[in-house]
Amino acid sequence: AVASDVWENGPALFVDALPRPRVDDHKYRRGHALVVGGAVMTGAARLVARAAQRVGAGMVTVASPPAAELVYRLSSPSQIVRPMSDATAAADMVADPRVAAAVFGPGAGTDDASQALLHALVAAAGRRGSDFGLVLDADVFTAFAGAADALRPHLTGRAVLTPHEGEFARLFGAGHPILSSTASGADKLSRARTAARHLGAVVLLKGADTVIAHPDGRAVIEAGGPATLATAGSGDVLAGLCVGLLAGGMDAFRAAQAAAWLHARAAVRFGPGLVAEDLPEQVPALLSVLLRSMDD
Ligand code: AMP
Ligand code: MG
Repeated sequence: AVASDVWENGPALFVDALPRPRVDDHKYRRGHALVVGGAVMTGAARLVARAAQRVGAGMVTVASPPAAELVYRLSSPSQIVRPMSDATAAADMVADPRVAAAVFGPGAGTDDASQALLHALVAAAGRRGSDFGLVLDADVFTAFAGAADALRPHLTGRAVLTPHEGEFARLFGAGHPILSSTASGADKLSRARTAARHLGAVVLLKGADTVIAHPDGRAVIEAGGPATLATAGSGDVLAGLCVGLLAGGMDAFRAAQAAAWLHARAAVRFGPGLVAEDLPEQVPALLSVLLRSMDD
């Protein structure tokens, strides 16, 4: 442990909880992940979906606004694309009991209609209860800007929030005690822990060092990510790894650890010239080493 209740991230923390394909599996049991795609920034949801597939989700469905349907349909032959006509249709998809986990926010948009959709999606996820896997990223933190307290009651399940520093500040809003040094300490570790406790959800606070905080005060630091991760779409891949692992049944804390570790190691393994879509393609080789180490 780095300090009391703080650990450096590594496979020993999460490898036992990784989803493993079983002889009697079918695609739903391996985990069905729902990715809600945006109408304009379609790259984000496509990266999320690919990462969820590569980390082992048995099925990935992309819910698409009508304007972007063709983009998502042509993106991958192994992803299901379902048209999402309005917020009610989207909430119905979240309510489908065969969906094990969902991710909202990447590329979702920040106009009024997009924000209303994100509110409806988050509420629908909240109604799924304690088993449901949920990843909140990117534009969700605009839809709930300064409204962390309104988000909190919906975080009923295995929820992971994946803000970078700017999104973290936006969610809590200027003047929130969590952002002030007097209430929680100015450092990143303290802020992530206080936020996780406050929200009752796992908070993965991104950056050159990433802090993963559990509501009970435990925290893990991932410091192995190279600076080549500072590239467009990299955070979307991380969200996809998280949702794929949640769909496979992992608890939120260890899913976040495994996602952050795989993300960092994928970038190291690829080396220079990395673009975000390279990251998911590194994951199978990394997983194969991890799962083999468990068989020994
Ligand atoms: P986003 O800001 O959503 O695009 O996510 C960026 C991703 O890259 C996060 O997982 C960050 O932790 C990671 N990242 C960004 N900058 C660095 C850096 N300088 N060194 C290591 N990882 C980084
Ligand atoms: Mg991002």
